[in-house]
Amino acid sequence: MKVCEPMLKIDNICSFYGNIEALKGVSLQVAAGEVVTLIGANGAGKSTTLMSICGLVAPRRGTILFEGRPIQGLAPHQIVALGIVQVPEGRRIFPQLTVLENLEMGAFLRQDTAEIKTDLDQLLDLFPILAQRRRQPGGTLSGGEQQMLAIARALMARPRLLLLDEPSLGLAPLVVRRIFDTIRQINQEKRTTILLVEQNANLALKVAHRGYVLENGRITLTAAAIDLVADERVRQAYLGM
Ligand code: ATP
Repeated sequence: MKVCEPMLKIDNICSFYGNIEALKGVSLQVAAGEVVTLIGANGAGKSTTLMSICGLVAPRRGTILFEGRPIQGLAPHQIVALGIVQVPEGRRIFPQLTVLENLEMGAFLRQDTAEIKTDLDQLLDLFPILAQRRRQPGGTLSGGEQQMLAIARALMARPRLLLLDEPSLGLAPLVVRRIFDTIRQINQEKRTTILLVEQNANLALKVAHRGYVLENGRITLTAAAIDLVADERVRQAYLGM
């Protein structure tokens, strides 16, 4: 891999649901070490972009390169094995399994037993609430705790690229702030590259280095997060100012 090559390079992808063209030529890039956010209104195509990266939706046109290698057309489990892990919208933890069992499930593709244990201990340090609740079934956790568990479970796979779909959805403001602090910590301390999809543009642009605005399946604006916050169109449409 060339030094200047982005970790993820999406070029002009078009993705459909039947005849509905949800993505109409989306291009974006994420460099190693970055937090990049994709903001946009309901139905803009944010989740479809993430699902296209993960192999859950097959783009009809365009290319997706991960570390220089085309990944469109690969099965979702092959994409996970390359190091791309998604935390889907709505959390989707295993409600009957304990917190610990949920976390262990995140490492199901790994063989390095000793390091799995080290990662588990580190994650329980990073998420003290999960350590406290380790023997409880996941379904008994609060919404915010389940979101933490979903993120921690994804981290157990040691992702090179973490895809987060609406981590703030349905959570109280205080909990959301805690989750965004954790996202920043994961990027800085664990050096995980993150692509973050959010409707809460205020918070997303606070943790991201760069951002893209998606409207009706097209990228309409991209800039450093600090410049997007200052952009009049973004302020009016997404920041409520
Ligand atoms: P939200 O924030 O509401 O999740 P989004 O930006 O993530 O919105 P997508 O869920 O990617 O948007 O949806 C993009 C477009 O594709 C929308 O017009 C939506 O109605 C349509 N769409 C999404 N999923 C399906 C599906 N399974 N079948 C048909 N159309 C779909």
